[in-house]
Amino acid sequence: MAVYVYKFGGTSVGTIERIKAVAQKVKKVRDTGDQIVVVVSAMSGETNRLIDMAKQMQAQPNGRELDALISTGEQVTTALLSMALEDLGCPACSYTGGQVKILTDSIHTKARIRKIDDSRIRADLEAGKVVVVAGFQGIDEDGNITTLGRGGSDTTGVALAAALKADECHIYTDVDGVYTTDPRIEPKARRLEQITFEEMLEMASLGSKVLQIRSVEFAGKYNVKLRVLSSFTEGNGTLITYEDTQVESALISGIAFNRDEAKLTITGVPDMPGVASKILAPIADENIEIDMIIQNISANGTTDFTFTVHRNDYVKAKKILEDICTELGAKQVLGDNSIVKISIVGVGMRSHAGIASTMFKTLAAENINIQMISTSEIKISVVVDEKYLELAVRALHAAFDLDKANVS
Ligand code: ADP
Ligand code: ASP
Ligand code: MG
Repeated sequence: MAVYVYKFGGTSVGTIERIKAVAQKVKKVRDTGDQIVVVVSAMSGETNRLIDMAKQMQAQPNGRELDALISTGEQVTTALLSMALEDLGCPACSYTGGQVKILTDSIHTKARIRKIDDSRIRADLEAGKVVVVAGFQGIDEDGNITTLGRGGSDTTGVALAAALKADECHIYTDVDGVYTTDPRIEPKARRLEQITFEEMLEMASLGSKVLQIRSVEFAGKYNVKLRVLSSFTEGNGTLITYEDTQVESALISGIAFNRDEAKLTITGVPDMPGVASKILAPIADENIEIDMIIQNISANGTTDFTFTVHRNDYVKAKKILEDICTELGAKQVLGDNSIVKISIVGVGMRSHAGIASTMFKTLAAENINIQMISTSEIKISVVVDEKYLELAVRALHAAFDLDKANVS
Protein backbone atom coordinates (compact mmCIF):
# COMPACT_ATOMS: atom_id res chain seq x y z
CA MET A 1 0.00 0.00 0.00
CA ALA A 2 1.30 3.40 -0.97
CA VAL A 3 0.52 6.85 0.40
CA TYR A 4 0.03 9.67 -2.09
CA VAL A 5 -0.52 13.40 -1.84
CA TYR A 6 -2.19 14.88 -4.92
CA LYS A 7 -2.45 18.66 -5.22
CA PHE A 8 -4.86 20.20 -7.72
CA GLY A 9 -4.44 23.85 -8.77
CA GLY A 10 -7.09 26.46 -9.50
CA THR A 11 -7.87 25.52 -13.11
CA SER A 12 -8.05 21.85 -12.16
CA VAL A 13 -10.90 22.64 -9.75
CA GLY A 14 -12.20 25.65 -11.70
CA THR A 15 -15.74 24.36 -12.34
CA ILE A 16 -18.21 21.87 -10.86
CA GLU A 17 -17.40 19.51 -13.76
CA ARG A 18 -13.67 19.79 -13.10
CA ILE A 19 -14.15 19.02 -9.41
CA LYS A 20 -16.20 15.96 -10.37
CA ALA A 21 -13.41 14.86 -12.71
CA VAL A 22 -10.88 15.25 -9.88
CA ALA A 23 -13.13 13.13 -7.65
CA GLN A 24 -13.14 10.35 -10.28
CA LYS A 25 -9.35 10.42 -10.52
CA VAL A 26 -8.91 10.34 -6.75
CA LYS A 27 -11.44 7.55 -6.28
CA LYS A 28 -9.50 5.35 -8.72
CA VAL A 29 -6.40 5.63 -6.53
CA ARG A 30 -8.29 4.88 -3.35
CA ASP A 31 -10.05 1.92 -4.98
CA THR A 32 -6.69 0.23 -5.51
CA GLY A 33 -6.22 0.24 -1.72
CA ASP A 34 -3.70 3.07 -1.63
CA GLN A 35 -4.10 5.98 0.78
CA ILE A 36 -4.56 9.44 -0.65
CA VAL A 37 -4.59 12.98 0.68
CA VAL A 38 -5.81 15.64 -1.72
CA VAL A 39 -4.80 19.29 -1.44
CA VAL A 40 -6.85 21.79 -3.40
CA SER A 41 -6.50 25.42 -4.45
CA ALA A 42 -9.39 27.83 -4.73
CA MET A 43 -11.34 27.77 -8.02
CA SER A 44 -9.33 29.68 -10.63
CA GLY A 45 -9.74 33.46 -10.33
CA GLU A 46 -11.24 33.22 -6.85
CA THR A 47 -8.19 34.35 -4.86
CA ASN A 48 -7.81 37.40 -7.16
CA ARG A 49 -11.52 38.18 -6.77
CA LEU A 50 -11.23 38.10 -2.99
CA ILE A 51 -8.12 40.30 -3.00
CA ASP A 52 -9.87 42.82 -5.27
CA MET A 53 -12.79 43.03 -2.84
CA ALA A 54 -10.42 43.59 0.08
CA LYS A 55 -8.74 46.45 -1.78
CA GLN A 56 -12.08 48.11 -2.25
CA MET A 57 -12.45 48.19 1.52
CA GLN A 58 -8.95 49.28 2.48
CA ALA A 59 -6.09 50.47 0.26
CA GLN A 60 -3.58 48.39 2.24
CA PRO A 61 -5.80 45.65 3.68
CA ASN A 62 -5.13 44.54 7.23
CA GLY A 63 -3.08 41.32 6.99
CA ARG A 64 -5.06 39.34 9.51
CA GLU A 65 -8.38 40.16 7.89
CA LEU A 66 -7.00 39.65 4.39
CA ASP A 67 -5.90 36.13 5.35
CA ALA A 68 -9.29 35.41 6.91
CA LEU A 69 -10.85 36.43 3.60
CA ILE A 70 -8.56 34.85 1.02
CA SER A 71 -8.36 31.52 2.81
CA THR A 72 -12.07 30.98 2.13
CA GLY A 73 -11.54 30.11 -1.54
CA GLU A 74 -9.79 26.88 -0.64
CA GLN A 75 -12.39 25.98 1.98
CA VAL A 76 -15.08 26.02 -0.72
CA THR A 77 -13.23 23.58 -2.98
CA THR A 78 -12.38 21.15 -0.18
CA ALA A 79 -16.03 20.82 0.84
CA LEU A 80 -17.23 20.52 -2.78
CA LEU A 81 -14.63 17.86 -3.57
CA SER A 82 -15.53 15.87 -0.46
CA MET A 83 -19.19 15.97 -1.50
CA ALA A 84 -18.27 14.84 -5.03
CA LEU A 85 -16.29 11.92 -3.58
CA GLU A 86 -19.07 10.92 -1.21
CA ASP A 87 -21.46 11.03 -4.14
CA LEU A 88 -19.27 8.46 -5.89
CA GLY A 89 -19.46 6.25 -2.80
CA CYS A 90 -15.97 7.18 -1.67
CA PRO A 91 -15.77 8.22 1.99
CA ALA A 92 -14.04 11.59 2.35
CA CYS A 93 -13.47 14.31 4.89
CA SER A 94 -12.47 17.95 4.31
CA TYR A 95 -10.20 20.04 6.53
CA THR A 96 -9.08 23.65 6.63
CA GLY A 97 -5.43 24.29 7.45
CA GLY A 98 -6.42 25.24 10.99
CA GLN A 99 -8.43 22.07 11.49
CA VAL A 100 -5.55 19.83 10.44
CA LYS A 101 -3.42 21.85 12.33
CA ILE A 102 -0.90 23.31 10.00
CA LEU A 103 0.93 25.58 12.39
CA THR A 104 2.66 28.60 10.86
CA ASP A 105 4.42 31.75 12.00
CA SER A 106 2.34 34.93 12.18
CA ILE A 107 3.58 36.76 9.07
CA HIS A 108 0.24 37.31 7.37
CA THR A 109 0.02 36.69 3.61
CA LYS A 110 3.48 35.08 3.55
CA ALA A 111 3.48 32.76 6.54
CA ARG A 112 5.85 29.82 6.81
CA ILE A 113 4.85 26.37 8.00
CA ARG A 114 6.43 25.42 11.34
CA LYS A 115 4.76 22.14 12.22
CA ILE A 116 2.03 19.85 10.98
CA ASP A 117 -0.09 17.71 13.26
CA ASP A 118 -0.93 14.75 11.04
CA SER A 119 -2.86 12.71 13.64
CA ARG A 120 -6.37 13.41 12.31
CA ILE A 121 -5.26 12.80 8.74
CA ARG A 122 -3.62 9.50 9.63
CA ALA A 123 -6.68 8.34 11.55
CA ASP A 124 -8.95 9.13 8.59
CA LEU A 125 -6.64 7.39 6.15
CA GLU A 126 -6.57 4.31 8.38
CA ALA A 127 -10.37 4.41 8.41
CA GLY A 128 -10.35 4.22 4.61
CA LYS A 129 -11.23 7.85 3.93
CA VAL A 130 -9.86 10.23 1.37
CA VAL A 131 -8.61 13.31 3.20
CA VAL A 132 -9.14 16.63 1.45
CA VAL A 133 -7.08 19.54 2.78
CA ALA A 134 -7.36 23.23 1.94
CA GLY A 135 -4.12 24.45 0.40
CA PHE A 136 -2.46 27.83 0.99
CA GLN A 137 -3.41 28.23 4.64
CA GLY A 138 -2.50 27.52 8.21
CA ILE A 139 -3.01 28.86 11.67
CA ASP A 140 -0.61 30.65 14.01
CA GLU A 141 -0.01 30.00 17.69
CA ASP A 142 -2.76 32.45 18.66
CA GLY A 143 -5.30 30.78 16.41
CA ASN A 144 -5.22 33.41 13.65
CA ILE A 145 -5.70 32.16 10.10
CA THR A 146 -2.61 32.69 7.96
CA THR A 147 -1.85 32.19 4.27
CA LEU A 148 1.36 30.98 2.68
CA GLY A 149 1.83 33.42 -0.22
CA ARG A 150 0.54 33.14 -3.79
CA GLY A 151 0.92 29.64 -5.13
CA GLY A 152 1.07 28.38 -1.54
CA SER A 153 -1.08 25.30 -2.12
CA ASP A 154 1.96 23.66 -3.72
CA THR A 155 3.74 24.09 -0.40
CA THR A 156 0.81 22.65 1.55
CA GLY A 157 0.93 19.60 -0.72
CA VAL A 158 4.64 19.01 -0.38
CA ALA A 159 4.68 19.75 3.36
CA LEU A 160 1.91 17.22 3.94
CA ALA A 161 3.74 14.68 1.80
CA ALA A 162 6.83 15.26 3.94
CA ALA A 163 4.89 14.95 7.21
CA LEU A 164 3.15 11.76 6.08
CA LYS A 165 6.31 10.35 4.47
CA ALA A 166 4.21 9.88 1.35
CA ASP A 167 5.54 7.70 -1.44
CA GLU A 168 4.92 10.46 -4.00
CA CYS A 169 3.59 13.99 -4.22
CA HIS A 170 1.86 14.88 -7.48
CA ILE A 171 1.23 18.49 -8.40
CA TYR A 172 -1.60 18.50 -10.96
CA THR A 173 -1.88 21.68 -12.98
CA ASP A 174 -2.92 23.05 -16.36
CA VAL A 175 0.34 22.18 -18.14
CA ASP A 176 1.72 18.66 -18.47
CA GLY A 177 5.00 19.31 -16.70
CA VAL A 178 7.84 21.74 -16.29
CA TYR A 179 8.89 23.28 -19.60
CA THR A 180 12.07 24.96 -20.81
CA THR A 181 10.13 28.20 -20.33
CA ASP A 182 6.50 29.22 -19.80
CA PRO A 183 4.72 27.61 -22.79
CA ARG A 184 2.28 30.53 -22.79
CA ILE A 185 5.11 32.85 -23.80
CA GLU A 186 7.07 30.52 -26.08
CA PRO A 187 4.92 27.88 -27.81
CA LYS A 188 8.13 26.10 -28.84
CA ALA A 189 8.97 25.44 -25.18
CA ARG A 190 9.75 21.77 -24.53
CA ARG A 191 8.61 19.64 -21.63
CA LEU A 192 11.43 18.29 -19.49
CA GLU A 193 11.28 14.63 -18.45
CA GLN A 194 13.17 15.60 -15.34
CA ILE A 195 14.82 18.59 -13.75
CA THR A 196 17.17 18.73 -10.77
CA PHE A 197 16.06 20.29 -7.48
CA GLU A 198 18.80 22.83 -7.81
CA GLU A 199 17.54 23.99 -11.19
CA MET A 200 13.89 23.88 -10.17
CA LEU A 201 14.67 25.96 -7.09
CA GLU A 202 16.41 28.51 -9.25
CA MET A 203 13.61 28.54 -11.86
CA ALA A 204 10.97 28.95 -9.13
CA SER A 205 12.88 31.67 -7.33
CA LEU A 206 13.38 33.53 -10.60
CA GLY A 207 9.68 33.59 -11.38
CA SER A 208 8.53 30.26 -12.89
CA LYS A 209 5.24 30.00 -11.07
CA VAL A 210 4.61 26.40 -11.98
CA LEU A 211 5.83 25.54 -8.45
CA GLN A 212 6.00 27.85 -5.46
CA ILE A 213 9.63 28.10 -4.37
CA ARG A 214 8.92 27.00 -0.81
CA SER A 215 7.39 23.76 -2.07
CA VAL A 216 10.64 22.96 -3.87
CA GLU A 217 12.65 23.83 -0.75
CA PHE A 218 10.49 21.49 1.34
CA ALA A 219 10.74 18.68 -1.17
CA GLY A 220 14.52 18.98 -1.28
CA LYS A 221 14.86 19.12 2.48
CA TYR A 222 12.59 16.19 3.26
CA ASN A 223 13.31 14.01 0.24
CA VAL A 224 9.81 14.17 -1.18
CA LYS A 225 9.40 12.48 -4.53
CA LEU A 226 7.84 15.32 -6.48
CA ARG A 227 6.24 15.28 -9.92
CA VAL A 228 4.40 17.97 -11.90
CA LEU A 229 1.63 16.66 -14.16
CA SER A 230 -1.46 17.76 -16.06
CA SER A 231 -4.85 17.14 -14.52
CA PHE A 232 -6.33 17.22 -18.03
CA THR A 233 -4.19 14.74 -19.95
CA GLU A 234 -2.40 11.49 -19.14
CA GLY A 235 1.39 11.43 -19.05
CA ASN A 236 4.48 11.20 -16.89
CA GLY A 237 4.89 14.93 -16.37
CA THR A 238 8.22 16.11 -14.99
CA LEU A 239 10.08 14.47 -12.14
CA ILE A 240 12.14 16.69 -9.87
CA THR A 241 15.33 14.73 -9.24
CA TYR A 242 18.16 14.97 -6.77
CA GLU A 243 20.91 14.31 -9.20
CA ASP A 244 21.17 14.76 -12.85
CA THR A 245 21.01 11.19 -14.04
CA GLN A 246 21.18 12.21 -17.68
CA VAL A 247 24.58 11.41 -19.11
CA GLU A 248 25.30 14.93 -20.23
CA SER A 249 23.49 17.78 -18.65
CA ALA A 250 22.16 20.50 -20.89
CA LEU A 251 23.98 23.79 -20.86
CA ILE A 252 20.84 25.72 -20.10
CA SER A 253 17.75 23.92 -18.84
CA GLY A 254 15.34 26.78 -18.84
CA ILE A 255 14.39 30.43 -19.00
CA ALA A 256 12.48 32.03 -16.15
CA PHE A 257 11.03 35.51 -15.96
CA ASN A 258 9.47 37.66 -13.31
CA ARG A 259 6.97 40.39 -14.10
CA ASP A 260 6.49 41.25 -10.45
CA GLU A 261 9.55 43.42 -9.91
CA ALA A 262 10.08 47.17 -9.87
CA LYS A 263 13.30 49.16 -9.95
CA LEU A 264 14.29 52.02 -7.67
CA THR A 265 17.34 54.27 -7.99
CA ILE A 266 18.69 56.88 -5.63
CA THR A 267 21.15 59.19 -7.40
CA GLY A 268 23.89 61.46 -6.09
CA VAL A 269 24.44 59.47 -2.90
CA PRO A 270 27.61 60.45 -0.98
CA ASP A 271 30.10 57.61 -1.57
CA MET A 272 31.20 56.75 1.95
CA PRO A 273 31.14 53.76 4.30
CA GLY A 274 27.75 52.83 5.74
CA VAL A 275 25.63 54.37 3.02
CA ALA A 276 24.35 51.10 1.54
CA SER A 277 23.12 49.99 4.93
CA LYS A 278 21.53 53.39 5.60
CA ILE A 279 19.58 52.99 2.36
CA LEU A 280 18.58 49.35 2.75
CA ALA A 281 18.00 48.99 6.50
CA PRO A 282 14.75 51.03 6.62
CA ILE A 283 13.47 49.05 3.61
CA ALA A 284 14.25 45.74 5.33
CA ASP A 285 12.65 47.02 8.55
CA GLU A 286 9.37 47.22 6.64
CA ASN A 287 9.70 43.56 5.62
CA ILE A 288 10.31 44.54 2.01
CA GLU A 289 12.51 42.04 0.23
CA ILE A 290 15.22 43.35 -2.02
CA ASP A 291 16.36 41.40 -5.02
CA MET A 292 19.05 42.77 -7.32
CA ILE A 293 21.36 45.53 -6.11
CA ILE A 294 23.76 47.62 -8.16
CA GLN A 295 26.00 50.46 -7.07
CA ASN A 296 27.66 52.48 -9.81
CA ILE A 297 31.29 53.49 -9.64
CA SER A 298 31.60 56.81 -7.98
CA ALA A 299 32.14 60.12 -9.76
CA ASN A 300 32.93 63.34 -7.86
CA GLY A 301 32.46 61.60 -4.51
CA THR A 302 28.89 60.54 -5.21
CA THR A 303 27.33 57.40 -6.64
CA ASP A 304 23.99 55.96 -7.83
CA PHE A 305 22.41 53.04 -6.04
CA THR A 306 19.78 50.85 -7.75
CA PHE A 307 17.79 47.88 -6.49
CA THR A 308 14.64 45.94 -7.27
CA VAL A 309 11.66 45.08 -5.04
CA HIS A 310 8.35 43.30 -5.55
CA ARG A 311 5.91 45.53 -7.46
CA ASN A 312 3.46 45.30 -4.56
CA ASP A 313 6.08 47.01 -2.39
CA TYR A 314 7.04 49.63 -4.98
CA VAL A 315 5.01 52.58 -3.64
CA LYS A 316 5.98 51.87 -0.04
CA ALA A 317 9.67 51.43 -0.89
CA LYS A 318 9.72 54.61 -3.00
CA LYS A 319 8.26 56.64 -0.15
CA ILE A 320 10.89 55.27 2.28
CA LEU A 321 13.64 56.03 -0.23
CA GLU A 322 12.43 59.60 -0.67
CA ASP A 323 12.77 60.16 3.07
CA ILE A 324 16.28 58.64 3.03
CA CYS A 325 17.19 60.82 0.05
CA THR A 326 16.56 63.98 2.06
CA GLU A 327 18.34 62.57 5.10
CA LEU A 328 21.46 61.63 3.09
CA GLY A 329 21.47 64.79 1.02
CA ALA A 330 21.28 62.65 -2.13
CA LYS A 331 20.05 64.04 -5.43
CA GLN A 332 16.83 62.24 -6.37
CA VAL A 333 14.82 59.04 -6.39
CA LEU A 334 13.89 57.46 -9.70
CA GLY A 335 11.50 54.55 -10.07
CA ASP A 336 10.33 52.23 -12.81
CA ASN A 337 7.66 49.64 -12.24
CA SER A 338 7.44 48.43 -15.82
CA ILE A 339 10.50 46.23 -15.88
CA VAL A 340 10.91 42.45 -16.03
CA LYS A 341 13.70 40.16 -14.96
CA ILE A 342 14.64 37.41 -17.39
CA SER A 343 16.98 34.62 -16.33
CA ILE A 344 18.65 31.68 -17.97
CA VAL A 345 19.21 28.71 -15.65
CA GLY A 346 21.31 25.58 -15.94
CA VAL A 347 23.72 23.50 -13.91
CA GLY A 348 25.65 22.93 -17.14
CA MET A 349 26.61 26.61 -17.03
CA ARG A 350 29.19 25.88 -14.33
CA SER A 351 31.52 24.15 -16.70
CA HIS A 352 30.99 26.29 -19.78
CA ALA A 353 32.27 29.73 -20.55
CA GLY A 354 30.72 32.16 -22.97
CA ILE A 355 27.08 31.73 -21.92
CA ALA A 356 26.77 35.33 -20.75
CA SER A 357 28.18 36.68 -23.99
CA THR A 358 25.72 34.60 -26.03
CA MET A 359 22.92 35.95 -23.88
CA PHE A 360 23.98 39.57 -24.21
CA LYS A 361 24.66 39.26 -27.96
CA THR A 362 21.22 37.74 -28.50
CA LEU A 363 19.51 40.60 -26.68
CA ALA A 364 21.63 43.19 -28.48
CA ALA A 365 20.68 41.70 -31.85
CA GLU A 366 17.04 42.40 -30.94
CA ASN A 367 17.92 45.93 -29.81
CA ILE A 368 16.95 45.17 -26.24
CA ASN A 369 18.69 47.35 -23.69
CA ILE A 370 19.92 45.57 -20.54
CA GLN A 371 19.33 47.70 -17.43
CA MET A 372 20.77 45.42 -14.75
CA ILE A 373 22.69 42.13 -14.66
CA SER A 374 23.26 39.60 -11.92
CA THR A 375 24.89 36.20 -12.07
CA SER A 376 25.46 33.11 -9.98
CA GLU A 377 27.06 29.76 -10.76
CA ILE A 378 23.94 28.41 -12.40
CA LYS A 379 22.01 31.47 -13.63
CA ILE A 380 22.31 34.81 -15.36
CA SER A 381 19.56 37.39 -14.88
CA VAL A 382 18.94 40.64 -16.72
CA VAL A 383 16.43 43.40 -16.14
CA VAL A 384 14.82 44.83 -19.29
CA ASP A 385 11.79 46.94 -20.17
CA GLU A 386 8.67 44.79 -19.84
CA LYS A 387 7.64 45.47 -23.43
CA TYR A 388 10.50 43.21 -24.55
CA LEU A 389 9.53 40.21 -22.43
CA GLU A 390 8.21 37.93 -25.15
CA LEU A 391 10.78 38.95 -27.72
CA ALA A 392 13.64 38.38 -25.29
CA VAL A 393 12.39 35.01 -24.04
CA ARG A 394 11.82 33.69 -27.57
CA ALA A 395 15.15 34.98 -28.85
CA LEU A 396 17.02 33.38 -25.95
CA HIS A 397 15.07 30.14 -26.27
CA ALA A 398 16.18 29.92 -29.90
CA ALA A 399 19.75 31.06 -29.20
CA PHE A 400 20.28 28.26 -26.68
CA ASP A 401 18.47 25.65 -28.84
CA LEU A 402 16.06 24.90 -26.02
CA ASP A 403 13.44 23.56 -28.39
CA LYS A 404 15.79 20.68 -29.21
CA ALA A 405 16.26 17.77 -26.83
CA ASN A 406 19.35 17.79 -24.62
CA VAL A 407 22.09 19.49 -26.60
CA SER A 408 25.36 19.79 -24.74
P1 ADP B 1 -2.03 26.07 -10.61
O1 ADP B 1 -3.24 26.93 -10.49
O2 ADP B 1 -2.33 24.68 -11.07
O3 ADP B 1 -1.18 26.09 -9.38
P2 ADP B 1 -0.19 27.90 -11.86
O4 ADP B 1 -0.78 28.93 -12.74
O5 ADP B 1 0.22 28.33 -10.50
O6 ADP B 1 -1.18 26.67 -11.81
O7 ADP B 1 1.10 27.23 -12.55
C1 ADP B 1 0.99 26.69 -13.85
C2 ADP B 1 1.41 27.73 -14.88
O8 ADP B 1 2.79 28.01 -14.71
C3 ADP B 1 1.31 27.29 -16.31
O9 ADP B 1 0.02 27.49 -16.81
C4 ADP B 1 2.35 28.13 -17.01
O10 ADP B 1 1.78 29.25 -17.67
C5 ADP B 1 3.24 28.67 -15.88
N1 ADP B 1 4.65 28.40 -16.08
C6 ADP B 1 5.65 29.31 -15.90
N2 ADP B 1 6.82 28.79 -16.17
C7 ADP B 1 6.63 27.50 -16.52
C8 ADP B 1 7.49 26.44 -16.90
N3 ADP B 1 8.82 26.59 -16.99
N4 ADP B 1 6.93 25.24 -17.19
C9 ADP B 1 5.60 25.06 -17.10
N5 ADP B 1 4.73 26.03 -16.76
C10 ADP B 1 5.24 27.25 -16.47
N1 ASP C 1 -5.29 30.12 -4.34
C1 ASP C 1 -3.96 30.60 -4.00
C2 ASP C 1 -3.42 31.47 -5.11
O1 ASP C 1 -4.12 31.73 -6.08
C3 ASP C 1 -3.02 29.49 -3.68
C4 ASP C 1 -2.74 28.52 -4.80
O2 ASP C 1 -3.53 28.40 -5.70
O3 ASP C 1 -1.69 27.87 -4.75
O4 ASP C 1 -2.32 31.93 -5.03
MG1 MG D 1 0.20 27.47 -8.63
